[in-house]
Amino acid sequence: MRDENCIFCKIANGEIPAATVYEDDEFRVILDLGPASKGHALILPKNHFADLLALDEKTSSKVLGLAAKIGRAMKKSLGCAGFNLVQNNGEAAGQTVFHFHMHVIPRYEGGPKMVSWEPGKPSGEELAELSESIREALE
Ligand code: AMP
Ligand code: ZN
Repeated sequence: MRDENCIFCKIANGEIPAATVYEDDEFRVILDLGPASKGHALILPKNHFADLLALDEKTSSKVLGLAAKIGRAMKKSLGCAGFNLVQNNGEAAGQTVFHFHMHVIPRYEGGPKMVSWEPGKPSGEELAELSESIREALE
C-alpha cells in the first residue's frame, strides 16, 4: 500500500531522511520542515492513504493514542503548555500533501494565536436544518 510518487510514503518508509521522533511497524512521526511552532510534528502512517476518508480502521484506531503519546512527550521535553491536533482533508481544508497525516503542534505560554476562527452566529433554525442535513447523509 505505497504510492511511488508520494513524498510522505518515501519519508515514512525511510527512503528520504527526516528528523524522526517515533517509529514502529505502522507509523513514523517526524518534525515538520515548516513548523508552526518549535517541535511541530507530523504523524505519518507507513501505508498510503490520501486522507482520513481513505484511512483503514486499524490505522485510524491507533492515531489518537499515538498523538497523545507524542503530545505527552512534547510537554515533558519541550516544556510546551499544551498542543493542538490538526488534520486537514482536501485542498479546501488546506491539505497540501495527499498522504494522511496528523499535525501535533506544541503550544507555548504567550505564544502566537493559531488554529482559531471568528465564531459565527447561526440561528437555532439554521442549526436545526444543518444538523438534519448531516444526520441524513450519515452512512
Ligand atoms: P498539510 O497542509 O496538512 O497537507 O500539511 C503538510 C505539511 O507537511 C506542512 O506543514 C509542510 O510544512 C510539511 N512538509 C512538506 N514536506 C515536508 C518534508 N519533506 N518534511 C517534513 N515536513 C514536510
Ligand atoms: Zn503516501
